Amino acid sequence: MIIVMKQNAERKDIEDVVKRVEELGYKVHLSRGEARTIIGVIGAEEHLLPSDAFEVMGGVEKTMRVMQPYKLASRDFSPSDTVIDVNGVRIGGKPIVVMAGPCSVESREMILETAHMVKAAGATILRGGAFKPRSSPYSFQGLGEEGLKYLAEARELTGLPVITEVMGSEDIELVGDYTDIFQVGARNTQNYSLLKALGKQRKPVFLKRGISGTIQELLMSAEYILAGGNMQVMLCERGIRTYETATRNTFDINAIPVLKGLTHLPIVADPSHGTGMSQLISAVSKAAVAAGADSLMIEVHPDPARAWSDGAQSLTPERFTQLMQELRLVAQAVGRDL
Ligand code: PEP
Ligand code: MN
Repeated sequence: MIIVMKQNAERKDIEDVVKRVEELGYKVHLSRGEARTIIGVIGAEEHLLPSDAFEVMGGVEKTMRVMQPYKLASRDFSPSDTVIDVNGVRIGGKPIVVMAGPCSVESREMILETAHMVKAAGATILRGGAFKPRSSPYSFQGLGEEGLKYLAEARELTGLPVITEVMGSEDIELVGDYTDIFQVGARNTQNYSLLKALGKQRKPVFLKRGISGTIQELLMSAEYILAGGNMQVMLCERGIRTYETATRNTFDINAIPVLKGLTHLPIVADPSHGTGMSQLISAVSKAAVAAGADSLMIEVHPDPARAWSDGAQSLTPERFTQLMQELRLVAQAVGRDL
């Protein structure tokens, strides 16, 4: 249930309602918008609460049932967009944030070179995998902590915040020592023990849609992190598995406006994994920005033909630079900056 306070509700009114909700054994989520405050009531039996328990209280305008199974992720709970600040880079505001870098960190030189290059082209966050969730146990699994150290060095030299994947709860502390954003990969979207553990962290979480996951399942996974107290979650459309085999995945452009309607969390598009083909990244990136994405994650490699993972879907520095220039025009056309 959400309790919508009147525009002129006083602080005391809000405090009284919060107290009453807590006395009844529920948790409170406060959303202070410019016009009015919304009090979210959270608890397993919340649907049993009679709405008139609050409607008679001072300063209350109305109560509303939230029909979706996710609460904290819902737009009803927080009507204004969530903006996540990562060392001064704001994700979810007017500027489109581009996160770029290689699929895997392969060496110190390679990540430093890529970091300088993507920064020069206009990216504001550096990506790179150190723990890689590969479909085969015989494929390159990532450099591990060594890779994390190189990412941290790249951040120091360029000032770009970094994002890297955490594959299991047991790695959270180690990865958290180096990264600015925890990435949860598509193979882990429903790893609920990992999501619960990330809910206790105070760093932003970048949550990818599952390979065969629905939009609602993605939002429920986000809810696990939010329910743990970590409100800094962004959601990523990275393509889903369909019957189509012409591309690696089917990038679900619908997911972007659907998610923007359902949730206040920032939405990221990943056209690299969404298509699997470097020649499609430009068109799908532009479509994603036009559709309302707040951010893009793009794989860039200094020499894609020699990449240790995902070379086929990585842009060369030249093509990435060109794409950034073209994207600026699309961003402007839909009232965003880049
Ligand atoms: C990645 O970002 O390199 C990655 C492994 O992505 P996904 O989890 O979407 O497959
Ligand atoms: Mn990849």
